[in-house]
Amino acid sequence: MTGIFDGLEKKATKELWLVSCRNLDKLKKLKQQRRLNNLVAVFQSPISAEEVKAQAISLGADLVGVADAQAMNDHPPYAADPKRPSDISDYDADRVIVLARRINLGTSRIAKWDERHKYYNDELTITALEETALELVLWLEKQGYPALIVPPTHVDPWRYDGNPDQHLAPLLSLDHAAVEAGLGTLGLNLQLLTPEYGPRVMLSAVLTSAPIEPDKRMERALCQGPKCGRCLSSCPGDVIGQWERDWPACDKYRKPHGFKKLTDFLGEVIDTKDTQIQKEMIRSEDSFNLWQSILRGAGAVTGCRRCQDVCPVGQDYESLLKDVLDLIPEDSAKKQSSLARMLEAVTAGDYENQSRWIGKLDEN
Ligand code: SF4
Ligand code: SF4
Repeated sequence: MTGIFDGLEKKATKELWLVSCRNLDKLKKLKQQRRLNNLVAVFQSPISAEEVKAQAISLGADLVGVADAQAMNDHPPYAADPKRPSDISDYDADRVIVLARRINLGTSRIAKWDERHKYYNDELTITALEETALELVLWLEKQGYPALIVPPTHVDPWRYDGNPDQHLAPLLSLDHAAVEAGLGTLGLNLQLLTPEYGPRVMLSAVLTSAPIEPDKRMERALCQGPKCGRCLSSCPGDVIGQWERDWPACDKYRKPHGFKKLTDFLGEVIDTKDTQIQKEMIRSEDSFNLWQSILRGAGAVTGCRRCQDVCPVGQDYESLLKDVLDLIPEDSAKKQSSLARMLEAVTAGDYENQSRWIGKLDEN
């Protein structure tokens, strides 16, 4: 007997058959992977989190923590654009080892946000951190555990949509990863704060499936919230909100000679009809800064960090920074009234979405 549902039944049966084939295929792949894992295990040395951390410190890291990737997969910081360790590697991302290297404080003591010495010094810190991460990966692989780096400056080119104003973040939010790895908590503008160096660190991460014990998140917030608000007061672009930041607006300062500046500058040169003026533009300071940034990344991947310099969190602030950074010339009545508004409802803004990483706020 035939009926109006016959076609649908056939379709459903075919889909079920396809699903079971796919499952069978998955099962085969899983079994194959397990066999491979067993083979790889023969070459693996037993390893502990303490050994990995000691190795990272000996290679130049100032702070090291280990995050459980499953927790990060389950709690992506931005639901609309989740970036998880499992999006990067299917096999070698059970643990996220977060490495921090402190920035040098001599440059923090220079109050001008757009000082090229700062950009250049920070670029050298990033380079040193990259070397630490690479050496750690090679060491892990010698112990039998494949590993890969998630650098702070690498963005996914597939996400670029032809608009240089677009904010492009690294493959993982390293600040959130650092919180998961027990290194600190996030501040009012979502910068990582560590007990040792406050926000004055650069971050990188290494993914691996080495079976090492993950660290625990800190429960209590290190940030003093709007009653401090020094990051907001010092921000040259006034881009800091309540437990949030306008990232595209911040990028103009954090990457002052980056891709956006390059495309704007080239557009202006092309639009200028007078060839003599074009030549002058090519020889200008703007052009020189872009060339230097392309050469070393200074000003393209480094830039403003005024909010990091003035933050009072960190053992380094009181003894090494406070004498010159206590006064904030960028403060204004407008900024003070924003902070006063925030004080009326401290957990407003994006606190609820970010509370896992900000931590429990001090009630006083
Ligand atoms: S990096 Fe500069 S522009 Fe961005 S939030 Fe910090 S102080 Fe503001
Ligand atoms: S400057 Fe103050 S408000 Fe800003 S992150 Fe640091 S402690 Fe928090």
